[in-house]
Amino acid sequence: MIASRLRPFGTTIFTEMSALAARTNAINLGQGFPDTDGPPEILTAVESALHSGAANQYAPLAGVPDLCAAIAEHQRRRYGLDVDAQDGVQVTFGATEAIAATMLGLLEAGDEVVVLEPFYDSYAATIAMAGASRRLVTLRPPDFALDLDALAAAARGARMLVLNSPHNPTGRVLTRGELEGIARVCIDNDLVAVTDEVYEHLVFDGEHIPLATLPQMAERTLTISSAGKSFSFTGWKIGWASGPPPLVGAVRSAKQFLSFAGGTPFQHAIAAALADAERHVAPLCAALRAARDQLCAGLRAAGLEVSIPQGGYFVNADIAALGATDARRWCRALPDRVGVVAIPTSAFYGDADAGRTLVRFAFCKRPEVLEEAIARLTAAGSAVT
Ligand code: PMP
Ligand code: GLN
Repeated sequence: MIASRLRPFGTTIFTEMSALAARTNAINLGQGFPDTDGPPEILTAVESALHSGAANQYAPLAGVPDLCAAIAEHQRRRYGLDVDAQDGVQVTFGATEAIAATMLGLLEAGDEVVVLEPFYDSYAATIAMAGASRRLVTLRPPDFALDLDALAAAARGARMLVLNSPHNPTGRVLTRGELEGIARVCIDNDLVAVTDEVYEHLVFDGEHIPLATLPQMAERTLTISSAGKSFSFTGWKIGWASGPPPLVGAVRSAKQFLSFAGGTPFQHAIAAALADAERHVAPLCAALRAARDQLCAGLRAAGLEVSIPQGGYFVNADIAALGATDARRWCRALPDRVGVVAIPTSAFYGDADAGRTLVRFAFCKRPEVLEEAIARLTAAGSAVT
């Protein structure tokens, strides 16, 4: 019964692996979500909003004005970007809805979209929902470097480029040099750039540079982010798109028919949180850096080869070092054999062979949880091939 454009996408790997974790009672280092709540002050702000008598009905389509203003102010304060709080911001149901509304609002059937693989799964599905198709540029392990010539070749005749930095699943943070090359390709080919920056605050090495801050890019770039990652409230699903009014207007025109508006009390709380984002995020970022180091060291000790991520929630390990040849099979067997869940990175590649032996582990977990997962993996060692 599923429409043909959605049939290739099946059930997401996150749903599959979290269900497996629940069934086997394994430690879930698959789907990326923290196992501790975000700052108590932000929780209290939701409670106040809930009981204020003015935050339990529909929000305006664009988002509650305080949140729209806080997003515009965040972009100005942090990155020097000039964003119109009314026409340059659209609040969405997580970054996921912003991505869907972007594709549905901006793409014509038959348009081509350049995407770097591995990619977050919803890009491909929503490009297909819009009747467009994707052109892939492959980032390969161990360094996941971007081949700018391949990008330029893929961009010819395309309409849009989708970029994600800090990157899920590799943890790469694009450098200014790479971003300059990408900007050149966008300008030369008159592409709309869509940047997914949900991990913008979670950078351990280097710095996050929004593509929109590069010369001549603000007018062609739609920037997407989310409160889920920055404040550890992934279940609240408060996301947004910001940028030039013509691009944001296209997102809005699709979003109004997807969910219209919602999450009003959460929007109020995130407005207050964003105004003080740096203070809230600093301890989270420090804890995640330590968690990254702990998990990378543990995976190495367990005999896996690890690419050190510069940002985000995830580390990739190559299981070829254990003699394994297929990460999908390995990940399906891991919960029963070892009591740990991880995600095969091949699920993020269009090219099934790229990343065949890579496995993504989430480190947004408490140290004792990571310690137990490492102990289980080390005890199993090369028995798990
Ligand atoms: N983009 C990337 C790169 C992600 O990893 C995620 C996962 N959370 C999303 C978008 C979706 O974000 P949200 O939960 O706010 O919908
Ligand atoms: N962003 C999360 C991840 O990559 C999962 C989000 C989802 O379940 N769709 O693990």
